[in-house]
Amino acid sequence: MNKIEHIGIAVKDLDLSCDLYEKLLGSPAYKRELVASEKVATAFFKTGENKIELLAATAENSPIATFIAKKGEGIHHIAFDVEDIYAEMERLRKAGFILLNDEPKPGADHKLICFLHPKGTNGVLIELCQERNDTEKINDTGNG
Ligand code: ZN
Repeated sequence: MNKIEHIGIAVKDLDLSCDLYEKLLGSPAYKRELVASEKVATAFFKTGENKIELLAATAENSPIATFIAKKGEGIHHIAFDVEDIYAEMERLRKAGFILLNDEPKPGADHKLICFLHPKGTNGVLIELCQERNDTEKINDTGNG
């Protein structure tokens, strides 16, 4: 794993939280993106090398809606940048971690992603993400 790529924060209202984080960080979101497959709307902020991802549910059965109902707003996941997501998934699977998906899937911000079950990581949802290579044909659902 290379570095923390971003920290994901679950929020109830993306517009309100975008205003808040713009005020906090001193610069607006550089990107907003819907991830239809996950039923989330996301907004990305940069502070130096670091990124914050705000996530809001777009449906009642969104994983973010479930998270907020259980735990309230707050830190939802930590994402690590990886060189080769397939290799990392294999390595972690062999080490006994529970992967939430068998294959990497397209995520927001032009990434291939995979989540690890928080049960195996002290209650923290971990995301692996790899910058997507456009020449690689993956099962892109077209929603980023
Ligand atoms: Zn994320």
